[in-house]
Amino acid sequence: MGGALASAPPIYLVNPMDVITTIEGFRTARAGLGQLGLVPTMGYLHEGHLSLMRQARRECGAAAASIFVNPTQFAPHEDFTRYPRDLERDMRLLEAEGVDLVFVPEVGEMYPEGFGTAVVLPAADEVLEGAARPDHFRGVATVVCKLLNIVQPTRAYFGQKDAQQTVVVRQMARDLNMPTIIVVAPTVREADGLAMSSRNSYLTPEQRAAATVLHRALTAARDLRAAGERGGDALRQRMAEVLAGEPLARPEYVSAADPLTLRELDEIGPRGALLSMAVRLGAVRLIDNLLVDL
Ligand code: AMP
Repeated sequence: MGGALASAPPIYLVNPMDVITTIEGFRTARAGLGQLGLVPTMGYLHEGHLSLMRQARRECGAAAASIFVNPTQFAPHEDFTRYPRDLERDMRLLEAEGVDLVFVPEVGEMYPEGFGTAVVLPAADEVLEGAARPDHFRGVATVVCKLLNIVQPTRAYFGQKDAQQTVVVRQMARDLNMPTIIVVAPTVREADGLAMSSRNSYLTPEQRAAATVLHRALTAARDLRAAGERGGDALRQRMAEVLAGEPLARPEYVSAADPLTLRELDEIGPRGALLSMAVRLGAVRLIDNLLVDL
């Protein structure tokens, strides 16, 4: 390639995306924008993330993404160090979506020496993901609180895929009088029903084929509900039966819970039910859920 061409500056048809690693830098860039939608992520982006970015831009006019694999929400035995990362690819995807600002802090920028505050929602630790992953939601709530304070978005976007996370973030925002509006968007799925997740990249081809069992179990319980069943035990039993039919799947829990309190239901009430599960396929742990009406 000719040297002159290689060194020519790029021609931007839209504004170049700002990639920012410091809190101070972000605050300066943010000050030039009015309404802003934030999509917090841990990167290794897929269509589930990108649909949130599109909604943020559509509703707020400008969108920011954060990419931060937050160490405090992983237990020591979990996958923090091997969590998939591909920043270059993520940047290309975000640029193509027209995202305006990208915040990519180092761990030391978010948790400098002397950091000592946590946001704790004790009730969240008693059920579902919180019971299975002690301290997980303390890490999530603390980092989301920090990101909302740094970015000061008009709205922040979260996926229904992580149902308990949406409950935790909404409660935190309400309890702490945060001005940001919390928006929850539907789960984006592969054609065969598997919920998109960065962790799907860990699956072997056999595990990937078996992973459809989560969605099959959820839809079987939803169909049972649609046929008139209201009993929590019957719905949990239906999900467990379908999961038992897949030899590679090791269920950690199945749940039919109140969508707000996340307490297990005897009978579906006026708020409907959150059907959810965590399932291991080899060393890979997947979660999924569906909301059903009364
Ligand atoms: P993560 O990078 O996994 O922390 O996810 C960042 C945000 O994207 C969270 O609010 C997730 O709930 C959301 N998200 C992840 N997967 C999906 C999906 N398949 N559909 C919709 N939202 C998703």
